[in-house]
Amino acid sequence: MKIHAIETGKVKITKNWRIGRGNGLMRFKNTLLDSEFTEWLPIYVWVIEHQEGLIVIDTGIPEDANKHVWFPPFMPLVQRAAKFKMTAEQEVGPQLKKIGLSPDDVRWVVLTHLHQDHDGGLHHFPNAEFVVSSKEWEMSTGIKGRMNGYLNQRWPDWFKPRIIDFSSQELFGPFAGHHTLTQARDIHLVPTPGHSPGHLSVILDEDDLSIMFAGDTSYTEELLIEQKVDGIGADPDVQQETHQKILEYAEQHRIVYLPSHDPGAKERLENRIPLSINANLELEAQAV
Ligand SMILES: [Zn+2]
Repeated sequence: MKIHAIETGKVKITKNWRIGRGNGLMRFKNTLLDSEFTEWLPIYVWVIEHQEGLIVIDTGIPEDANKHVWFPPFMPLVQRAAKFKMTAEQEVGPQLKKIGLSPDDVRWVVLTHLHQDHDGGLHHFPNAEFVVSSKEWEMSTGIKGRMNGYLNQRWPDWFKPRIIDFSSQELFGPFAGHHTLTQARDIHLVPTPGHSPGHLSVILDEDDLSIMFAGDTSYTEELLIEQKVDGIGADPDVQQETHQKILEYAEQHRIVYLPSHDPGAKERLENRIPLSINANLELEAQAV
């Protein structure tokens, strides 16, 4: 199956945002006030040319993402701690057209979560069916959503996603529920909470491989293996449990693990390089 990695821009976050330090309120303070930043990281959108239609996973960052938002009161601090670099041409719509695909032909847009670097291109897909978890929807809409840091004022008026309630679904390996998207039963959505309360990941079965589009469950494959949790997530303990579940799944299946901001993700997708816990540990040992 043809799968495209489309980079919609870059993000730079504080080092304590990438790997959290401390607990509770202190953790957020460390994340937001850190003066050291990571290198520029990609913001990927994934496009699957499936026989049942085009599927887009996340929609990337919008051109105006650095514009300041003054509500809730902590928003300027969040925006200081995460900087973006992108152009209008880099938005997902124009980039799809550049590779010969029409945004109007997209059948499904699955959103791993609704942070602004994932929901910033909704406006390019007025004909698509959007899919969001019920927990993410509950946390991100209305005034409560704004208070939680979701920029729902930027969503198009017509944005009315299909809501998936994982709690009423059967387990999927270690994951607490699942939703099968396609008739071919080869694409499954699974709950991967932690970075955001309703975060989901997408697992595509391809021959003997499972390709996992992991959103922000971790920022890189290494951070998953080391079970290092970020400093902005809603619940570090839940995020760590999710890491353990993904690693458990990876023990039972050959998975290609693709976080949205992992500089190595595109190459792993193109060469179908599966996650190997042992290979990563060996690399680490060599580095020491
Ligand atoms: Zn993100």
